[in-house]
Amino acid sequence: MKKRFKRIYIEITNVCNLKCRFCDTINRKQEFMTIDNVEKILEQIKNYTDYIYLHVKGEPLLHPNIEEILDLAFKYNLNVIITTNGTLIKNKAGILSKAKAIRQINISLHSIEQNSNLDFDKKLYFEDLFNTVEEITKVNNFYVSYRLWNLEDIKDSDKNTEVLNSLKNYYNISNLFELVKNNDFIKISEKKYINLDTIYEWPNLNKDVISKTGSCYGLINQIAILVDGTVVPCCLDQNGDINLGNILESGSKSNVKSGFKSDVINDKSESNLKVDLQNNSNYNYENSFENILNSNLAKEIAEGFKKNKLLHPLCQRCGFRELKRR
Ligand code: SF4
Ligand code: SF4
Repeated sequence: MKKRFKRIYIEITNVCNLKCRFCDTINRKQEFMTIDNVEKILEQIKNYTDYIYLHVKGEPLLHPNIEEILDLAFKYNLNVIITTNGTLIKNKAGILSKAKAIRQINISLHSIEQNSNLDFDKKLYFEDLFNTVEEITKVNNFYVSYRLWNLEDIKDSDKNTEVLNSLKNYYNISNLFELVKNNDFIKISEKKYINLDTIYEWPNLNKDVISKTGSCYGLINQIAILVDGTVVPCCLDQNGDINLGNILESGSKSNVKSGFKSDVINDKSESNLKVDLQNNSNYNYENSFENILNSNLAKEIAEGFKKNKLLHPLCQRCGFRELKRR
């Protein structure tokens, strides 16, 4: 039977070992999800998706229990996609080589360019990284996507000269610099790719409204769960502004905070939503995943997308097309 969501993001930690320039500081407590909570979540979502993505913010390979988390995903028959900045792949090579649940690893190679303070030999770093990836995938043949999502313009490859040179030499792609001018997806081998894209901005309630019309995959074919259990429509809601409920409070009566800020709702067209958001805050239900999906707020936002309306203030401040590629 087809499951409702193509993917569910689970933020197993919001702690990171890097500080990329484009990555906004979050206003949430920094923490690691406990194994018990990971299992509580997997039990509840297993009938809603076949694919879990272990990130929203944070570096998933920093999680001290990453091995157990991958084992749990396997137990619940879920395919795992890891997006990592790559710096811990060598450390975790033993775990990554064995984890049967892993379907794909996305390695954000742009994170090295984004942290100009990193003081090591980049050429050696990339060579070592590619070697490790090759060793791991010899025994655990998952997909690998090397990401360069730091471009101002899709044809601008200048800022990535160093890493492209390393990729070109390591994988013997003599015309790589030509290829990246006209392609955003380059196949290296059967299950390995280079993926280029422009840099994206995180939506933020303090920014100006971009649009009130549009559609999005959030709540339609994907949804995200933040490290404290807060369910949000998408992997771009980095501060939990569209708080649909807390999946870890299952069984208790909830008092859902919408994350809605009244000062950003300032025109008539948004006043109806304001009422609904407030109703959602007072809505008492057992906070199972299913009930969260059936909450007024979740249904209104999803219906809005189907009618080409961006109802939530955060969605109105979001270059939402970006969601399609995370
Ligand atoms: S973009 Fe990713 S790797 Fe970079 S600081 Fe943010 S969470 Fe860390
Ligand atoms: S429009 Fe943006 S903020 Fe709203 S659900 Fe989609 S990706 Fe998330």
